[in-house]
Amino acid sequence: MTKPSLRNKRLSKKVRRTPGGKLKSTHKRRKGKYASCKICGARIQGVRLDKGKLRGSGRVFSKELCHDCSSKVIEYRTMLENKAIEQSEIPMKYIKYVGVGQK
Ligand SMILES: [Zn+2]
Repeated sequence: MTKPSLRNKRLSKKVRRTPGGKLKSTHKRRKGKYASCKICGARIQGVRLDKGKLRGSGRVFSKELCHDCSSKVIEYRTMLENKAIEQSEIPMKYIKYVGVGQK
């Protein structure tokens, strides 16, 4: 009979072969999900899920965007402030984070 503490889906169950040749089911802790970039979908470094909350590094967009996308957003934001480019030249995927129309 299974131990009462192992009767839920908190742990993942795997069947493994013991050195003696018998099959035995073992229980392992599930791996957590990773935080991913909201523009390109890449895994974000330095962010972990802790009790359902994202813990970031404190960098700008640290919990939302990867390092590549956040540097692009900051670049476009600065170029727009200095009037080096116009709003129409910014790619659509960055517009939400550049903050066009907020000022
Ligand atoms: Zn990204």
